[in-house]
Amino acid sequence: MIKSKGYAAYDPQSDLAPHDFERRDPDPTDVQMEILFCGVCHSDLHMVRNEWGNSEYPLIPGHEIVGRVVKVGEKVARVKPGDMAAIGCMVNSCRECPSCKDGLEQYCLNGATLTYASPDPKGPGFTMGGYSNNIVADEAFILKLPNNLDPAAAAPLLCAGITTYSPLRHWKVGKGSKVAVVGLGGLGHMAIKFAHAFGAEVTLFTTSPGKTEDAKRLGAEQVVISKDENAMAAEAGKYDFVLNTVSAKIDLTPYINLLKREGTMVLVGAPAEPLPLGVFPLIMQRRSVAGSLIGGIRETQEMLDFCGQNDIVSDVEIIPIDKINEAYERMLKSDVKYRFVIDMATL
Ligand code: NAP
Ligand code: ZN
Ligand code: ZN
Repeated sequence: MIKSKGYAAYDPQSDLAPHDFERRDPDPTDVQMEILFCGVCHSDLHMVRNEWGNSEYPLIPGHEIVGRVVKVGEKVARVKPGDMAAIGCMVNSCRECPSCKDGLEQYCLNGATLTYASPDPKGPGFTMGGYSNNIVADEAFILKLPNNLDPAAAAPLLCAGITTYSPLRHWKVGKGSKVAVVGLGGLGHMAIKFAHAFGAEVTLFTTSPGKTEDAKRLGAEQVVISKDENAMAAEAGKYDFVLNTVSAKIDLTPYINLLKREGTMVLVGAPAEPLPLGVFPLIMQRRSVAGSLIGGIRETQEMLDFCGQNDIVSDVEIIPIDKINEAYERMLKSDVKYRFVIDMATL
């Protein structure tokens, strides 16, 4: 076993605190990585506080992991010691069901093994995430990091990046698309960068007027303050695609009304509470509301390679690990520019 340390939550109410634990030694298909940086996703906060009701404690969050390979099992071919590599939200899946066979492991019909708080088929116990000094995972779930990307700024690509890249690709957003991004946080800022890079015309809908200039720098043509009912009404019926990244319960109707006939709103934000859905805004213009979960391993590698080719990374604020509880409080106030990333050398 490998002696390891990290920051864990022990229950839904307490702050994260230092935690010693053990990881398994790498088996023949495993890769062991030293973690250099880990992004801070709003899902970490939902999970630490058990807002989705499926948390397991002690819980070490973190699924935007970048590090260096230190050891590999004898059958591993994808990476070698010394390589920069990355891990996102999953570390395993059944690999046999139709979703896994299609490279969509996030939709594994037997339940993918998430990077933290999932029962680990390779054991022991539950998986422990990236707010820690090392990790061991099967090579099938290890991503290669393009060499030209700054490792700290690339970390958020592993969740915020793929979660926005995947629906934009699936719904074929590109040149000629008018896209609305709702919420400018970790996911929202990557959604603007990708939609802009794909050639779409992007408008940000935000509750934070102070983020207007940043949104334009990131690639938005226009910014609408979503609390302004008149401004919202003026945008009705203009958009092909709405990507909703909001982490809290909101009224969806004003955003559905943004869609053109046959437009789609995809929800990636994951508040615990159900969101009421009025039927009339949908049936009157044959509009759709859909959801999307991260992305499969093949598409995550495609996204990283696209970022390498197009010099796309996240805008990050690097923090030492002992500032993590403060970072959570700031995230709850929408005070993130635009992703916190933990420098694991401070652990
Ligand atoms: P984040 O950095 O905290 O950003 C969320 C943004 O939503 C905020 O910055 C804010 O933007 C807006 N917002 C927050 N509260 C709001 C409210 N009450 N009303 C309106 N807007 C509000 O969070 P994130 O890491 O991007 O994650 C966003 C959500 O996506 C979370 O629920 C997370 O769990 C979920 N998620 C889902 C997936 C998936 O696979 N589907 C993957 C990762 C994360 P403005 O200041 O611009 O209004
Ligand atoms: Zn995440
Ligand atoms: Zn499967």
